[in-house]
Amino acid sequence: MKNRFKDKVVIVTGASSGIGEAVAREFARQGSRVVLAARSEENLRKIRDEIIAAGGEAFCVKTDVSSEEECRRLVEKTVEKYSTVDILVNNAGISMRAAFSDVDLKVLHRLMDVNFWGTVYCTKYALPYIVERKGSLVGVSSIAGFHGLPGRTGYSASKFAIHGFLETIRIENLKKGLHVMIIAPGFTATEIRKHALQADGSEQGDSPRDENHMMSAEYVARWVLKGIRKKKRNKILTWEGRLTALFQRIVPAFVDWAYYIEMSREPQSPLK
Ligand code: NDP
Repeated sequence: MKNRFKDKVVIVTGASSGIGEAVAREFARQGSRVVLAARSEENLRKIRDEIIAAGGEAFCVKTDVSSEEECRRLVEKTVEKYSTVDILVNNAGISMRAAFSDVDLKVLHRLMDVNFWGTVYCTKYALPYIVERKGSLVGVSSIAGFHGLPGRTGYSASKFAIHGFLETIRIENLKKGLHVMIIAPGFTATEIRKHALQADGSEQGDSPRDENHMMSAEYVARWVLKGIRKKKRNKILTWEGRLTALFQRIVPAFVDWAYYIEMSREPQSPLK
């Protein structure tokens, strides 16, 4: 069977950890030329070296996706090295945990800057190449992008914004063969909850949830590639998520209560 990803140029943001790292490694295993982007250069270099040692092709560009200039540079460096971009996986993201009544608005600004604007900036500079190659544009979202998640106003808002943005890009490019996919993993065992911002903007440090009973980043990564291969439009990885997306349309008040009850059960829940 022909390997669809062989020699494809793939940019993965947030590739220094968790889902992004697993996605980058999976593409490299499939023979893609992978560009790793994130802020932690040391982690990126380690992952790049391991990919190369395993016979893959990768390079890294230190990038803070909340900076338009750095996203432009990420795409420029990619094109300088590999001449084009076939696939962009907008994965870099942060979360939060605080009731809106308590939260410093700088937290919501940061969530939008990284999650939403990071996606917009990278897409802006990579899109002409991806369209030319009839490639794929991916947004790693969450079920919080389908229904508001209490204690995560900024997170949900950023994911809803990503949905609106990517859907519109899809429609604008309908005649050009561009594939756009929004993928929503379930709870995945990564660093995200440790780095989640609290009401005052500090990182929460510990995860309030049991990380041992979550899906793995590698599982999500396999679905990212499968979704691209099958040109999926939306891919929700859990049955709870799929039910949420369905019930949200027919019995939204039920979903409100289900979310409230679930999130208020977390230790030190910000919901009173
Ligand atoms: P991790 O915290 O493990 O990874 C987040 C990645 O984003 C890191 O590589 C981090 O790198 C990068 N990142 C954060 N801020 C920036 C920035 N300003 N510029 C560039 N890169 C940045 O979390 P996950 O792997 O879980 O998160 C990946 C995506 O998956 C996110 O979009 C998240 O919303 C989504 N998701 C996660 C779920 C989960 O339960 N884990 C569930 C549903 C969706 P660095 O710090 O080096 O910059």
